[in-house]
Amino acid sequence: MTERMLQFVRLQQQTPDKRPASARREDFQEIYDRFDPERAKEQASRCSQCGVPFCQVHCPLQNNIPDWLKLTAEGRMEEAYEVASATNTFPEICGRVCPQDRLCEGNCVIEKGFESVTIGSVEKYIVDTAWENGWIKPPTPSRELPHSIGIIGAGPAGLAAAERLRVQGFQVHVYDRYDRVGGLMIYGIPNFKLEKEVVLRRWEQYAAGGIHFHMNTAVGRDVTLAELRARHDAIFIATGVYKARDVALPGSEMDGVVPALDYLTTSNRQNLGDAVPAYDSGALNAAGRDVVVIGGGDTAMDCVRTAVRQGAKSVTCLYRRDKANMPGSMREVHNAEEEGVRFLWLSAPEAFLGADAVTGVRAIRMHLGLPDATGRQQVAPIEGSHFVVPATLVIKALGFDPEALPAMFDEPALTVTRWGTLKVDHRSMMTALPGVFAGGDIVRGASLVVWGIRDGRDAAEQIAQYVLNKAEVPQAAE
Ligand code: FAD
Ligand code: SF4
Ligand code: SF4
Repeated sequence: MTERMLQFVRLQQQTPDKRPASARREDFQEIYDRFDPERAKEQASRCSQCGVPFCQVHCPLQNNIPDWLKLTAEGRMEEAYEVASATNTFPEICGRVCPQDRLCEGNCVIEKGFESVTIGSVEKYIVDTAWENGWIKPPTPSRELPHSIGIIGAGPAGLAAAERLRVQGFQVHVYDRYDRVGGLMIYGIPNFKLEKEVVLRRWEQYAAGGIHFHMNTAVGRDVTLAELRARHDAIFIATGVYKARDVALPGSEMDGVVPALDYLTTSNRQNLGDAVPAYDSGALNAAGRDVVVIGGGDTAMDCVRTAVRQGAKSVTCLYRRDKANMPGSMREVHNAEEEGVRFLWLSAPEAFLGADAVTGVRAIRMHLGLPDATGRQQVAPIEGSHFVVPATLVIKALGFDPEALPAMFDEPALTVTRWGTLKVDHRSMMTALPGVFAGGDIVRGASLVVWGIRDGRDAAEQIAQYVLNKAEVPQAAE
């Protein structure tokens, strides 16, 4: 091992500079600056090059983290990029949006006592450098294959599969009901975590590499799954989960009580320069309003922080458990606190108040009880502890379920789990329909970008094997 590494005993952990909260509140730009080359080298050199790297074990893509850290520490950036991109389709996106505190960095062995290596920021630095230097090329195959693959959904899972299949020479067609590629990376995750240009430049590269994109094409509305099956040798379904979970509370139907994804999509579209009547009319715009967000996950954090940037008068997050039990990333909670969001822990909504439009949320204090069978502490209301929070915009961020895909696709043979996610064989990733594969959130339930990428890459391998073997093996007549 070179003397360059193991510097964690000498060098402190440093994350890239974070813009001050006062500046962040004013715009939608990403909140972290980039490492400068010297800082990136220094921080990468803190890695102790573990024989059994727990960071890698806990990365869903099993990224070869110690190798790209060492190459970065040595200034060998093009090689670092090659290693980082060998296992990850969008390393620059994961470097920005993975909850590293729960994955790679949270399992770095020097975390204890010295604070982990800043893996995500180095990964982002490596690949942003690669873009600047023109090292990232369209996925052009060395030979063309006649087989055609249809991919439904252009989120991280669909795109990762598309890229892997295209480099092997398959004819790849991606269908998406939206007008832009990226799925929740474009219309869910806000700019201040992931600037849209980072996603859109990948789209350009993929189109240049010969992947065909059929945008504004909803399967089930504009084309049927049966038609796509007739058109392609195999199908990959990666449609994500979009049905908002709801709370059946009095006043839910009032103006000003809105689902999180409608709110975030509107904001993302507005930032992309689209005409967005729901923003202009004020229906999905927090400017000047008292905003209450219900929920404690990452989507709730994205909503509160978006509301701050839109110029809300006040922003309050209601969550029925305490801070320690929040499902979202602590890093995001901390960022929200810095930006002036008020958190009311152990508080559950009971009713939305108002005549036609909401004016407040009646809530009740909760206490944590004993753990249930899953080990999670139960919550129960404290009698008589009602209180009212003024609110002229209430955003419900309670999670997502899958839409009923077999009905939507008019394919009752597609089987689903009791949560409504698509059932697949866990090795082949094939659904109950021959030649139809699935992955990403529609199989896992609401998950992470990095798991979508993992599924897309795994599915591409399975699809390639299936299509090539089928081509060699004559099919019996039906
Ligand atoms: P999606 O990204 O949802 O893409 C599915 C695509 O399928 C969409 O483009 C959709 O238009 C298309 N589609 C759906 N139905 C049809 C149809 N019938 N016909 C044609 N196209 C269709 N993860 C992180 O790792 N870090 C984060 O910080 C993070 N923040 C998030 C913030 C929010 C607000 C949300 C909602 C999610 C966040 N996630 C985050 C989760 C992450 O975005 C998802 O897990 C990931 O995008 C799932 O990838 P996917 O490809 O399975 O689906
Ligand atoms: Fe960490 Fe995510 Fe990168 Fe894996 S992909 S190394 S979990 S930031
Ligand atoms: Fe380096 Fe930490 Fe990974 Fe060990 S666990 S290889 S110290 S980043």
